[in-house]
Amino acid sequence: MQLHNLTIREASELLTSKKISSVELTQAVLQRAHDVDDKIKSYVTITDDVALEQAKQADERIAKGENVTPLTGIPFAMKDCISTRGVRTTCSSKILEDYVPQYNATVTNKLADSGAVLVGKTNMDEFGMGSSCENSGLFNTHNPWDLDRVPGGSSGGSAAAMSASQATFTIGEDTGGSVRMPAGFCNVTGIKPTYGRVSRYGLISLVSSFDCIGPMTRDVYDCATVLEAIAGHDEKDSTTYNAPVPQYHQNINKSVKGMKLGIPKEYFVAGMEAGVESSIQEAIRTYEKLGMEIHEVSLPNTKYALPVYYLLLFAEASSNLARFDGTRFGLSVSENAKDVIDIYLQTRHEGFGDEVKRRIMLGAYALSAGYYDAYYLKAQKVRTLLRQDFELALSSVDILLAPTCPTTAFKLGEKTNDPLEMYLSDIYVVATNPAGVPALALPCGFSNNMPVGMQLIGKHLDEQTLFQVGNAYQQVTDWHKQQPNL
Ligand code: GLN
Repeated sequence: MQLHNLTIREASELLTSKKISSVELTQAVLQRAHDVDDKIKSYVTITDDVALEQAKQADERIAKGENVTPLTGIPFAMKDCISTRGVRTTCSSKILEDYVPQYNATVTNKLADSGAVLVGKTNMDEFGMGSSCENSGLFNTHNPWDLDRVPGGSSGGSAAAMSASQATFTIGEDTGGSVRMPAGFCNVTGIKPTYGRVSRYGLISLVSSFDCIGPMTRDVYDCATVLEAIAGHDEKDSTTYNAPVPQYHQNINKSVKGMKLGIPKEYFVAGMEAGVESSIQEAIRTYEKLGMEIHEVSLPNTKYALPVYYLLLFAEASSNLARFDGTRFGLSVSENAKDVIDIYLQTRHEGFGDEVKRRIMLGAYALSAGYYDAYYLKAQKVRTLLRQDFELALSSVDILLAPTCPTTAFKLGEKTNDPLEMYLSDIYVVATNPAGVPALALPCGFSNNMPVGMQLIGKHLDEQTLFQVGNAYQQVTDWHKQQPNL
């Protein structure tokens, strides 16, 4: 038995029956993280000391039998945009390269309270802007299935770390596919919860009205376990729902027989890789065999999803990122500065990468007096249509199924010179975020030896059905158990 390959459920059983200790498990995971990180580069920071200290405390909790949760003693890694007190939180940006938060995000606190063990912070596209991790201001992360390919983005480090067994679970963040797209590229399960299900307090914002923190795991069962621990109302984030968090496990094994699966026809268009399409069709047949009714549905405004998403992202991001100006957080370039404006300009010039600058400029333009109505306001109106598309489609079926990306992981460098081409790889994942609905990504096959991902999309706050339907699939398939050969 290799401890770094265990699921949360398996590890927790061994911990609570005292067959292993959290210190042993954590040491094994840290060892693995260090062993393969030269090749993969999932981690910005590996927190050996913090991890071993937390593991010791977890073992004490288990010994006393006090407050033991399914995550007590379990090692995890966190995307580097979520604040961890005393541990560097960079957003993979030069502007925050040495920034150490004074406080924890609510998610960080909840995981600490549950007894989980932080092994490190993972690489990402700078501030979450990208689909390949190549926009990281620090370094590239490699796909564990083929080191010449990207892990996806922007939570590429969290996906790669999960896939390479460098953590027992990881936490990602999804503004427009950043959990689901890399999960698909790396053969990992991950969820973008309903907007407002998980607190954003302490998450460094990209798009405040889209951002969702979500777990990445080996299987759906583990995903449900982690979401249960991090979800819930938070008085520090007024956009969180004041609704109880269900015990997702309780109904996870319920049969899917007779349930209605909707296939959005707009998601099956020319340009999809043949092996991706056949894997998705095979998954649909699997659900048919499990007794689900298959129905074609329409999301007619899908063609506007990408422009609406990017326009609103540029606008909100340009405003959110105004706080990085050299006078408050992180980098400050003040040498030879004549005045404070000079400090702003020099700091932002040196600290931000090209993609971040591009998006800030486009966002400022879209929000400017002359163009606000034509771009920003119009996009907000179409956003309502996107939301209504999902509401209507999901009024006749229980859940939707779609690919996470038209292709499998592409080569490093393949799309870096063409931002539009890069944006196009998000085509299937961006609509859910303006709409706020939850979506679960899970492995469903291989095309040219690279993993293929699918997503299940559900009604607001109905993560339960996503887990039930995702779990039913993983009971009869073993794609999610395949591991890269490192
Ligand atoms: N690819 C998306 C983008 O570049 C991902 C954003 C995200 O989910 N953080 O905007």
